Amino acid sequence: MRCLMCGKELGYGSLSDIISGEDPLCMDCRRQWRKRQISFRFEGLRLRSSYVYNDAFSKCLIQYKELADEALKDVFLYENLRWFQRVYRGYQLVMMPSSFQKIQNRGFSHLRKMFECTGMEIIEPFIKIDSTDQKGKSRIMRHAIESGIVLRADARLNEKIVLCDDTITTGSTLRGALKALHGKQLKIGIYTVSANYRWLK
Ligand SMILES: [Zn+2]
Repeated sequence: MRCLMCGKELGYGSLSDIISGEDPLCMDCRRQWRKRQISFRFEGLRLRSSYVYNDAFSKCLIQYKELADEALKDVFLYENLRWFQRVYRGYQLVMMPSSFQKIQNRGFSHLRKMFECTGMEIIEPFIKIDSTDQKGKSRIMRHAIESGIVLRADARLNEKIVLCDDTITTGSTLRGALKALHGKQLKIGIYTVSANYRWLK
C-alpha cells in the first residue's frame, strides 16, 4: 500500500511506518498535521477539534473534496477514532451542509463519508442555500433563509446531537445551523476535525 498523499510505499520504508499500523498516510505526511486537543466554547456550546488547520491539512482536504479523491475519506478521523466514539457515545452525528450545487458537482457527500468510519448514526438534516438561489423568493421565505441554512421539515433529530464539520473558519455555517435549530430542546455538541488558528488561545 502507498501513502495516499505522497505515494511513498508504506510498511517497507521506515520502522516508524511499520509501527504506525493501518494509517493510510505515511509518518512524514502525518507529522505535518498539527495534532492538538482543542476545546472551547462556541455560542455557549462545547466545541472540540483535533487539528490546527494548516497547509498540510488544507492540501489533503482539497484533494478529498475538490478533486473528489474518495480514497482519503478515512484519514481525517483515523488518529482520533476511538476518542471520538468515546466522547460522543450515544450522540447522533449531524453533518453540516455543503451547498446543493457543490454536492452535485462532487457526486458524493464528503462529510458523511468522512464520518462513516465511526459506525455511528449520521443524518444530514440541513440544506444550504446559495445567496443566488434567494432571488425571486417571497419576503417571508427570504427571511427564513437569511442565515443560508434551513432545517428540512422531515428531519429526525435525536435528543443528543453533535454537529460535525471538517473545519471551523469563521464559524458562520455553524452559527447558521444553530439558528436553524433554535427553540428545539436538544443537547448539542460540536466537533470540527480542524480549527483555524484564530480560535486558539
Ligand atoms: Zn506520505
